[in-house]
Amino acid sequence: MKIRPPKKVLLESAVADGALAASLRKNLPGASFEVLERLKDASRRSSDVLEVVDFRGKFLKSCPGTRRYHCCGYKILHLGTQCSIDCTYCILQAYLNQPNLRLFGNLEEMWGELSGFLSENPSRIHRIGTGEFTDSLLLDPFTGISRMLVPYFANTPHAVLELKTKTDFIGNLKGLDHGGHTIVAWSLNPDEVRNREEPFSAAISERLDAARACAEEGYFLAFHFDPIIDYPGWKSGYAKTLEHLFERIDPARIVWISLGALRFMPDLKTIIQKRHPSSRIVYGEFIRGLDGKMRYFRDIRAEFYSFILDRIRRADPELCAYLCMESDDVWRDSFGFSPEERGGLDRMLDRAVESRMGIGPLRKEAEST
Ligand code: SF4
Repeated sequence: MKIRPPKKVLLESAVADGALAASLRKNLPGASFEVLERLKDASRRSSDVLEVVDFRGKFLKSCPGTRRYHCCGYKILHLGTQCSIDCTYCILQAYLNQPNLRLFGNLEEMWGELSGFLSENPSRIHRIGTGEFTDSLLLDPFTGISRMLVPYFANTPHAVLELKTKTDFIGNLKGLDHGGHTIVAWSLNPDEVRNREEPFSAAISERLDAARACAEEGYFLAFHFDPIIDYPGWKSGYAKTLEHLFERIDPARIVWISLGALRFMPDLKTIIQKRHPSSRIVYGEFIRGLDGKMRYFRDIRAEFYSFILDRIRRADPELCAYLCMESDDVWRDSFGFSPEERGGLDRMLDRAVESRMGIGPLRKEAEST
């Protein structure tokens, strides 16, 4: 995937001399830099502009699960918003008042909040990821944030970092002391879905090559089939992607694989129609779920999930697969059990961290024997 450096960086004065601003000045020699007292929300999207602001909100957030669907207890480390990969289905398009790539420049406060949280909550495993409101590695060639985060997590005995991406920008991850505490994760789809709905992302073969290179560096991996998209021939498309995945990657390196069918708030439909007129994804048959989002009918979702799960089980019966934001009924229809029967979804994922990565109670037991 081609790196597209921002051409203009707008910095709020409070963060213009910070570590992040310094990395950007060093790594973006061709960009113009402008310092402003306070940035206003842009009225038009420009993929050439990068904004660096003094963030006043919470850097650590709980993943927005809902009461009705199973939630995995994940924490989001919020480092910025928006993404220029511009997938047709991306929920961030609804953030129209903040259309440009935006990073939070007050990293000292982020480190303070993260360290405070981890030291106040030492008695459980924390799964923390940065790829919720932007892509984890899209700007990493310029920010170098992974070179700070990965060694930091290597020294946290009870936390793991997940970097989620659709790029192959893994250059900064090479040679880092990760201590086996970072999971590098890619979302996957069949080539035909990637070409239509994610054309500015890395090709699926490039993502798998990058994943393999990370595995060779000793990183753990994860994959997300999310959003799964219905189209004629989806079975052969997803089967082929899974075949390529397990040809290229040793399943023993994979900590989890999540599955989630396309879902979107009704307001996003008109945005997708306007911004991506050639996309057909919003013209399927949907029902409104318990969280207000439009989803495929339950039978269709269950069919996706059981089909993909079967392929995962053939490759590795022990590999942790889970559903993102689904109800007990759909879990039972497709997985044959509900998370409650396994101690809850958060415990299922903690156990995957313990057993695959050797972090948490299982490692303590192993060390004491
Ligand atoms: S890569 Fe993720 S964050 Fe970026 S546009 Fe696509 S869905 Fe949105």
